[in-house]
Amino acid sequence: MKAKVADIFFSLQGEGLYAGTPQVFVRFYGCKQACRFCDTRLNAYDKYTPLELYDRVKRFKVPYHSLCLTGGEPLQQHDFLKEFLRLVKYDGIATYLETNGILADELAHIIEDIDIVAMDFKLPSSTGSLEYWQEHQKFLKIALKKEVFVKVVICQTTERIDLEKALKVILKLRAKKVPLILQPNFFELNKDLLAKVRLWEKYCSRYLSCVKVIPQLHKMTGAK
Ligand code: SF4
Repeated sequence: MKAKVADIFFSLQGEGLYAGTPQVFVRFYGCKQACRFCDTRLNAYDKYTPLELYDRVKRFKVPYHSLCLTGGEPLQQHDFLKEFLRLVKYDGIATYLETNGILADELAHIIEDIDIVAMDFKLPSSTGSLEYWQEHQKFLKIALKKEVFVKVVICQTTERIDLEKALKVILKLRAKKVPLILQPNFFELNKDLLAKVRLWEKYCSRYLSCVKVIPQLHKMTGAK
């Protein structure tokens, strides 16, 4: 079994609750979604067996917090992940999954070997795509077995009703302590968008214990 991997590198996490944290990144190739703000349209990859990828990761000698599985959408290659994660966890390496939060069955397959889930809620007025509320609810229910935070990208087109639906999903699962990250779309970053995000941060804070506005640091600093 081989996975398509677009990149393997060391960097600081650029977004979400762990922004600024040193990680080794494995960027998996391929995603079936088509978010209009997507910044990872990949066109090349190498193929690795679980053991080959594990050997490659082991070459990083710098201290790092966790291994970030990102994409694309890593869960599209969940059978590979199942085997790869067994090797990684045997070594005691912490694992951090960045995911679009849609593929619940695939998450269930590997959740035991994941430590932290960085889960997106795809707001249709942000992505320009379909709604996934049921999928997100099912996914979050599984992710709650581990540490999890939810991230939403806020664009100029984002409608408040989508944010309300996102809150409803979280509250339905009695998960008000799950951190919610509002990430302004880097490509549209301006005063108006920031004002909108700050207003919505106040609104969400009425319902959830931890709401933060965190822009993409790696874009702002030019890091990978
Ligand atoms: S889910 Fe993520 S990788 Fe897939 S298109 Fe959307 S932003 Fe890009």
